[in-house]
Amino acid sequence: MEKILRTFFLFLSKNRILTKMAKKYGLRFGASKFVAGETIEEAIRVIKELNNKGLSVTIDFLGEFVDSEKEANVMADNSIRAIEAIRGEELNSQLSLKLTSMGLDISEDLVLYNMRRIMDAAGKNNVFVTIDMEDYARCEKTLHIYKVLKSEYANIGTVLQAYLYRTEQDINDLDKYSPNLRLVKGAYKESAEVAFPVKEEVDENFKKMIATHILNGNFTAVATHDETIIEYMKQFVLEHKIDNDLFEFQMLYGIRSDRQLELVNEGYNMRVYVPYGTDWYGYFMRRLAERPANVAFVLKGLLKK
Ligand SMILES: Cc1cc2nc3c(=O)[nH]c(=O)nc-3n(C[C@H](O)[C@H](O)[C@H](O)COP(=O)(O)OP(=O)(O)OC[C@H]3O[C@@H](n4cnc5c(N)ncnc54)[C@H](O)[C@@H]3O)c2cc1C
Repeated sequence: MEKILRTFFLFLSKNRILTKMAKKYGLRFGASKFVAGETIEEAIRVIKELNNKGLSVTIDFLGEFVDSEKEANVMADNSIRAIEAIRGEELNSQLSLKLTSMGLDISEDLVLYNMRRIMDAAGKNNVFVTIDMEDYARCEKTLHIYKVLKSEYANIGTVLQAYLYRTEQDINDLDKYSPNLRLVKGAYKESAEVAFPVKEEVDENFKKMIATHILNGNFTAVATHDETIIEYMKQFVLEHKIDNDLFEFQMLYGIRSDRQLELVNEGYNMRVYVPYGTDWYGYFMRRLAERPANVAFVLKGLLKK
């Protein structure tokens, strides 16, 4: 049943008509549990609260299905606005973004043009930028753009997904860039041709990725809500005497908020991924796919209307 629901929500996440409708009707159906608001002002309020509790943040201006150069440029403008807000409001926050929002599916020139604008602003304002990883079809292109930008800018990182077979090789290939990487399980629907179909295999690969990357001496963000992986990481850094400044935990806004605070209180660096914007629908559906139990929030949201 869980598998069917996961497939269903991932299918819904790609629906363009529902995405457009959701934009019009505002944050609904319990989406505000996972999305900090529709405006940068609302996001700033949330970030300040998180910062006050000792949590650092990475902010993401949500955007799905960018079809034109104009839309991609507007997305980049919004990311630049977020960078300026981080500096202006003295927030403890980085920026995360998706290359499709910057025009990846339109042309390499466009995505590089927008990314260089963002990276120039990020450099000026001393903000670190992470390129999220999207579906397998875009993995190679995303890593290519990352490598181009990493040779021009220091303050940029990206994400690798434990469910992909190729990730082990990618970790080794990227090592020469001394990359700051966020390691995740992976959020998209992929075929068994490219991704481990069994959760236990993904979890084993996740642990392997963590060990390889951190022992290579590279900054490692372990982005998970999975207690087994968190415990593995805690044990690993203890055994290998890894300094706190070489790794951090990351979780999504609204998920295991109590555990986020506990980890801070235990002395670990903890970063919360805070999405905001009117384009919340696809992100929300992916979160439901991860945990169909969250559908209860949707039902409550519906009943409230
Ligand atoms: C900071 C951050 C950034 C990310 N960036 C990317 C990215 O760039 N590309 C990408 O493909 N994926 C990204 N992801 C998503 C990731 O790939 C997984 O889909 C997601 O984190 C769920 O996997 P998990 O490791 O938490 O473990 P799971 O095995 O899915 O979950 C373990 C436990 O965590 C809890 N949990 C998990 N999800 C939820 C939820 N939605 N609601 C409530 N409880 C939950 C449950 O208790 C569950 O049993 C990111 C995740 C995080 C935390």
